[in-house]
Amino acid sequence: MTDYRGISFWMDSLEEEIVPRPSLPGDVDADVVIVGAGYTGLWTAYYLARHAPSTRVVVVEKEVAGFGASGRNGGWCSALFAASDARLTREFGREAMHAMRRAMNDTVDEVGRVAAAEGIDCHFRKSGTVSVARSAAQEAALRAEVDEARMLGIGEDDLRWVEASEASVLMRATSVRGGTFTPHCAAIHPARLARGLAAVVERQGAQIFEKSEVLEISTGVRPSVFTRHGRVTAGTVVIATEGYTARLAGHGRDMVPLYSMMIATEPLAGEQVKALGDALAAGATFNDGRHMLIYGQVTPDGRLAFGGRGAPYHYNSEIRPEFDRNDAVHSRLPVALSELFPDVFASVGEVRVTHRWGGPIGLHRDWFPSVALDRAAGVAAAGGYVGDGVATTNLAGRTLADLVLGRTTDLTSLPWVGHESPRWEAEPLRFLGINGGLRLMSLADRLEERSGKPSRVASVIGRFTGH
Ligand SMILES: Cc1cc2nc3c(=O)[nH]c(=O)nc-3n(C[C@H](O)[C@H](O)[C@H](O)COP(=O)(O)OP(=O)(O)OC[C@H]3O[C@@H](n4cnc5c(N)ncnc54)[C@H](O)[C@@H]3O)c2cc1C
Repeated sequence: MTDYRGISFWMDSLEEEIVPRPSLPGDVDADVVIVGAGYTGLWTAYYLARHAPSTRVVVVEKEVAGFGASGRNGGWCSALFAASDARLTREFGREAMHAMRRAMNDTVDEVGRVAAAEGIDCHFRKSGTVSVARSAAQEAALRAEVDEARMLGIGEDDLRWVEASEASVLMRATSVRGGTFTPHCAAIHPARLARGLAAVVERQGAQIFEKSEVLEISTGVRPSVFTRHGRVTAGTVVIATEGYTARLAGHGRDMVPLYSMMIATEPLAGEQVKALGDALAAGATFNDGRHMLIYGQVTPDGRLAFGGRGAPYHYNSEIRPEFDRNDAVHSRLPVALSELFPDVFASVGEVRVTHRWGGPIGLHRDWFPSVALDRAAGVAAAGGYVGDGVATTNLAGRTLADLVLGRTTDLTSLPWVGHESPRWEAEPLRFLGINGGLRLMSLADRLEERSGKPSRVASVIGRFTGH
């Protein structure tokens, strides 16, 4: 029996018991079958029911709702979109970039609106994101981000530079030289959102079958998904497996799973929470300008939920429970916290970690998320959010519902709709390339720390990630 509480601090802190719903009982007929009960699948089901309540929706999940990244993430419900605004402008023009930016900003509020309307108590707190610059190189990079935003017509209200004096009040880290602030982010409890959404979708009439792994998908006029327990035949199949997609037959090179790792600390005392900075105490999410991403939030009960990248990519896009722990990253995270906040943690030993976990995020070869429907094949899909999926999945779900129902809306003309990414290289090139890229990111951070200047290595990474 899988220990679902052990998946993450979030799953462990749910009040409900996590008991799998029944498996697929045999062959079933539906209008839409959704593979995967994470946010993408569940939001799609939600908006299908909102727009066309008579649609027969079946969700088929390998484990339980929220088992994947949706039950494990950092809880940044943010307007970040994996492809930068500069890139969107380059590839699709300024108008399309602004349309995407507006859609993402609105999506943060939409998640809060639906959670409130449907009684999903996911601790939604929209307090923005603070990013601090703690070296000359980080300052140059964050200032360049703000300058670029201004050049593209993105205003101060969306992203602003914060001088050192203000930044170190918002986030009381060491060596703060300034930073950025955006209001477009809410901190949430990820598992409460995923599990709450599953219950809402069921109330709307969708059927969710758990412990029902999809082994094969057939395409055509009446596509089907096959499990050991039976098959679901429908008008459309929606693939909502994101970081797990490479494990589906025929999809091995669509997306790679890259692991992100997290820790949660014991609840801090009220005074300690205040000492993290005014914005953090009020629920703002935070990070700094390093290349090897870190991300955090303070939970309503005063824990630091803190994560970082840097775990290696596993050969052949393998996904295994043991990969959810990575000693190197899990031991670096408390060190990073004690370096950021020495007033709160006098030594790394004072960072009392109660939970360590990780999970896969999905990356397309060009680091560009997409949402698409292939009407001839009867298959729709969304993903490749590169770790910025908490809000983006809601936009994906709304867009997938529109596409499946044949509705032409503002959402269906956004630039990521129908975007086709190239396939990943075959192994061993994929393994060597991705892990080489990860090493370069660590190297760029080390070089910049030493020299204080932006590293040339960073521009090589930029080329790799398409930014
Ligand atoms: C540690 C971590 C931290 C993150 N932090 C953030 C953050 O702070 N902010 C942010 O925006 N994003 C973050 N992300 C990314 C974000 O969580 C994801 O982008 C988002 O949850 C993706 O949702 P999804 O529904 O597409 O995929 P998932 O939630 O991964 O759901 C996919 C589901 O498909 C199921 N499945 C897989 N294979 C099959 C099969 N063959 N048959 C049936 N079911 C199957 C899985 O069990 C899973 O439940 C983080 C991710 C991780 C792992």
